[in-house]
Formats: sequence, structure tokens, C-alpha cells
Amino acid sequence: MDLFEYQGKQYFAKFNIPVSAGGVAVTVDEAVREAEAAKYPVVVKAQVQVGGRGKAGGIKLANNADEVRLHAGNILGMDIKGHVVKRVWIEHASDIAEEYYASFTLDRAAKQHLLMLSAQGGVEIEEVAAKDPTAIIKLHINPIEGLSPATARQATIDAKIPAKAVDGVSDMLVKLYECFTKGDCDLAEINPLILKPTGEVHALDAKVSLDVNASFRHPEWEEYAATEELDDREKLAREKNLQYIGLDGTVGIIANGAGLAMSTLDVVNQVGGSAANFLDIGGGANAEMMTAALEVINSDAKVRSIFINIFGGITRGEEVAKGIVEAVKRVALRAPIVIRLDGTNAEEGRKILAEAGIPESQLTSRPTMIEAARAAVEMAK
Ligand code: GDP
Ligand code: MN
Repeated sequence: MDLFEYQGKQYFAKFNIPVSAGGVAVTVDEAVREAEAAKYPVVVKAQVQVGGRGKAGGIKLANNADEVRLHAGNILGMDIKGHVVKRVWIEHASDIAEEYYASFTLDRAAKQHLLMLSAQGGVEIEEVAAKDPTAIIKLHINPIEGLSPATARQATIDAKIPAKAVDGVSDMLVKLYECFTKGDCDLAEINPLILKPTGEVHALDAKVSLDVNASFRHPEWEEYAATEELDDREKLAREKNLQYIGLDGTVGIIANGAGLAMSTLDVVNQVGGSAANFLDIGGGANAEMMTAALEVINSDAKVRSIFINIFGGITRGEEVAKGIVEAVKRVALRAPIVIRLDGTNAEEGRKILAEAGIPESQLTSRPTMIEAARAAVEMAK
């Protein structure tokens, strides 16, 4: 679950990471009140979950109430890369001597935590990576050993952070790692991590993504659910307990298992189509689940065909088939289904589908994943 910058900063503050004092505002008047409280000069910052707000005009300095009115008025309601700004964060403006970059993520392949650190912050890290990859250092951290202050210091030196900032940045890394691990983050990123002219090191931005698998340890995360920005399809999917992610394409996808669902997106892409969603129906693909999945996909106006890709392991073919037959009765589908059913009891499943009397225009079957993908993509045209 991604947090807004202001929530990320509040999260950082719990781990003693220095951030600027400020407040959230949804109206221009509130923005002025927050600015007076934070003391001028202030920055007015669009709260959207997308990078590059600065370049898009979503971040402005203001020296007095009139300037806050002007900027907050412009930024509230602004569209930044498809995200409409509903809130601004107002904080006391910082003087910047230098801008760095620091982040922690999990490197699944290496089964270790990954620190990325660069003396070139402020711009998007992908840009730095493209222009000068040697300007970013990557350090794997054994999660059992953790990050010692000495290792943090060495990383800071290796990243060519200037001597005057080494103490501050290493200290920040240790705190950010605490936040990342104890705070159960998937991502904890500070860009820019600034050095002030006074020598202090400070988080000027915050990008935090929480690992929702750890929600049971964090009842306090409840508050973030209220501001989470899901589209209507994702809301419906969540109500129905489905593992669903909305995408922009025209082929609705249902698969059993996250790996198969990902492969299905790839294959649809490979044959020239585009997926409307990721949806993992899991192991128990029964009528309830199948109905729920089809309802969510049916609610997506862009969907032109539906590709159901099932490989039975524990999931049995005849159960899936019964589920589909039942679901097709319950949901008035706007798009045709192509199914590929393989694995445990696939034969029995196909027989049930064939005998259900569902018209060919509504449901067709293909023996392999690639053939089914081609058929679904063809129908979506
Ligand atoms: P992003 O563009 O979405 O990553 O937003 P950031 O929060 O990183 O801000 C973008 C840029 O705005 C920073 O790199 C700074 O150069 C500038 N900026 C943000 N806050 C301040 C501030 O308090 N003082 C000054 N002088 N510049 C700021
Ligand atoms: Mn930033």
C-alpha cells in the first residue's frame, strides 16, 4: 500500500527521521492556516502518488498568504499524470545545500534487503541510473545481521557523499533502515535527502510503500485505508476479496495463481493484445469466486473479451467448469469468454463446459495458453 508524501513523513517521524513541520490542507483557506502555523517561507506540495510533481508544477514556494492562496488554488484540482490533486501538504521551506538519494527495498532474487544511495538526488533516480549508473551504489544487507552504523558509514563514503555530510547521512541510513524493517515497508525512499547549509541532514520528500501482509501487526495502518486511492474496479475487487489490479487494456484476465496470472498478461501482450487487469483467483476457483471475478471484470467498460486461464493442480478442472457455468448464469456478461483449461481433471471440466449449452458466442475453449490468448486478443479487436 502506497502512502502519500505527508503520510510517509509522519511515518518517518515515528523513527526519528528529521522532516519539516507542516500540515495537510484540502482548501485554500486551510492551506493559508497551515502556512501561518508552519511559518513563512513555506512550500505548497501536491499530494499525489506519482513522482515528478516538481516538474509538473505541483510544488511551489510561497513567502506570504497571497502566494499560498495563488499556488494552493492552482495546485488543488490540478491533474498530474492522471492523478487529480485533492490535498496539498504545506511545510516550512528548507534551505538546500545539496540533494542526495537514499532508499531501501527488498531484493527478492538475492533474498536480501537492498540499499541504494547516490550523491546525485533531487532528479528521478531512473534518470541518474540511465545517465551515470556508477553514481548509484547498491548494497545488499543481510536481514538477519541488519545494517550497522559502520556499514552505513562505509556506504556513504562509497557513494561519494561529501565528508561534511557523512555523519548525518550514515545516521539517516540507520534510521531509515529501522523504519523499513520495523515499520514493515516494501519501499522506503528519500529523494531528495538534503544537506542544509547549517550541516543538518533532512528528508525533504518521502516515498513509503507498506507491506500489507504485515497489517496484522499494525492496527494503526487503518487510517491509511481511508485515503487510499483505488479505482472503482479495485474497490469492488477488494470487497470481494480478490487479488486484482486494474490495468488499461481490453482483455480481461482470470487465472489461478499469481505466477500464471502474470504469465497470462505476458502472453496476451506477446500476441499483440493488452490486459485489462491482473486477477489471481487462487486455489479454490469455485462458483462463488468465479462469479465475483466475472462481476469485477464485467464492471470494466474497456473489456472486450475475457481470457480464463486455469491450470489445475489442487484446483480441479470439473470444479472450475461448474463454477464457470454457474457464474455465466448469474452474470450478464458484456464480453465473450475464451477458456484454456488444463491440468487435474481438465477432460471432465471441458466435458461439463461443452454440455452446459452455453452458446459459442459467449464461451469458447482452446487447448493451449497461446491459442487461447490469440483467440481472446482477436475477439478484443
Ligand atoms: P517530486 O518532484 O515529486 O519528487 O517532489 P519533491 O518533494 O522531491 O520536490 C521536488 C523538488 O522541489 C526538490 O528536489 C527540491 O528541489 C524542491 N523543493 C521541495 N521542497 C523544497 C524546500 O523546502 N525548499 C526548497 N528550496 N526547495 C524545495
Ligand atoms: Mn522527490
